[in-house]
Amino acid sequence: MLAESHYYFKKAADLLELPEKVRTILLTPRRSVKVEIVIEGDDGELQSYEGYRVQHNMARGPMKGGLRYHPAMDEEHAAALANLMTWKTAVVDIPFGGAKGGINCDPSKMSKRELHDVTTTFVEHMKEVIGPTTDIPAPDVNTNAEVMGWIMHEYSKYEGFSPGVVTGKPLDLFGSEGRNAATGRGVMDVLAAALEEQGKQFSDVTVAVQGFGNVGSHAARLIAEHGAKIVAVADHTGGVSNADGLDITALMAHTAEHGGVHGFPGGEAFEGSQVITWDADVLVPAALEDAIRKDNAPDVKATIVVEGANGPTTPEADEILHQKGVLVIPDILANAGGVTVSYFEWVQNIQQFRWDEERINNELDRKMRRAYDEVRAVATEFKTDMRTAAFVLAIRRVGKAALSRVPISSHLSF
Ligand code: NAD
Repeated sequence: MLAESHYYFKKAADLLELPEKVRTILLTPRRSVKVEIVIEGDDGELQSYEGYRVQHNMARGPMKGGLRYHPAMDEEHAAALANLMTWKTAVVDIPFGGAKGGINCDPSKMSKRELHDVTTTFVEHMKEVIGPTTDIPAPDVNTNAEVMGWIMHEYSKYEGFSPGVVTGKPLDLFGSEGRNAATGRGVMDVLAAALEEQGKQFSDVTVAVQGFGNVGSHAARLIAEHGAKIVAVADHTGGVSNADGLDITALMAHTAEHGGVHGFPGGEAFEGSQVITWDADVLVPAALEDAIRKDNAPDVKATIVVEGANGPTTPEADEILHQKGVLVIPDILANAGGVTVSYFEWVQNIQQFRWDEERINNELDRKMRRAYDEVRAVATEFKTDMRTAAFVLAIRRVGKAALSRVPISSHLSF
């Protein structure tokens, strides 16, 4: 994943004619911390884990990024995702840098008490390097609002009342309205901008969605509410289709009850992997990395792909889609709605003032539409695709901020 992010970085840096030394500055993480976490398990035995936090860049503000609990979590994963966060926060122009971290534990095999102890020990070891003005974690794979609440509580024991140290907190504990649906809403916003650009309306298009979790379900719901037909949805339990449009509210209720879309009575079942090449105008990959690869990319029928997931398209597939004339709205733009509302949560925590959901949604819609237009303007300026343009925009913003902080010789400016 780091290799892919560096590939897109290089492509954009070449277009910008970015000096070699500036590339090194922008790619090198500011700090990487590894901690040993030892707790007593419920069975009385010691359990030990490794915790990571990679802080990539803070030229534009405090670093921001999720905390992932997964057995495969390691420094390289954290570094790749931290790097992406730097570009994502810059694309939507929020005053944050990028970071990511996690613990190599498997929450499915742990009790709540064990998970709590692992989390608070992680905070105890990391408290000097995180904070509301340095690095602000958020939920990621296998972490949620509850875990964020524990982090806030533990950090506040050492540093005093600090709701701004994490985002994605429970609504009753300084969380924000609108955070849950924010990434899906951002997906809908950028699709609205793309359709408008093509002189189309939501009611003119059919949509296929891979992944029906937080991102996929809210994106599908909001896109359907705007009048598009969601004709196919797939998750880890299989796929379900309906040419007249699936009832997304009913599908959400079915998924909540049965753990997946499989067995939904309002459509026909299909083998889930076929969703990528479904006969629909728009494809929203919102599940896994590398879902669109060189083997299935030639058969993609959608003319617009909105990347709800992080890294759903491999670089080879990206090139194939580009050659086919498919508009790919890249992850660092398309799924930035979540971090944008995290920013709103942090702002509310700092100001000690609550915004209502209408204000959150309006501000989010505005930010996403503006980011889309800015990426489009760069794509036109450099005669390039939206992904490369998003990287150009982000690198330009982060690079200029980094270089404005110190006296530099003219040969480093760009
Ligand atoms: P989630 O765990 O809520 O949902 C994941 C979905 O993917 C589930 O419906 C699951 O069934 C499905 N899935 C898993 N394996 C699959 C398979 N083989 N085929 C089809 N579907 C499969 O996760 P999420 O929060 O919705 O995140 C999805 C993606 O979006 C991830 O790449 C994540 O990094 C990215 N993302 C999430 C957010 C956010 O705010 N949640 C923000 C930015 C990016």
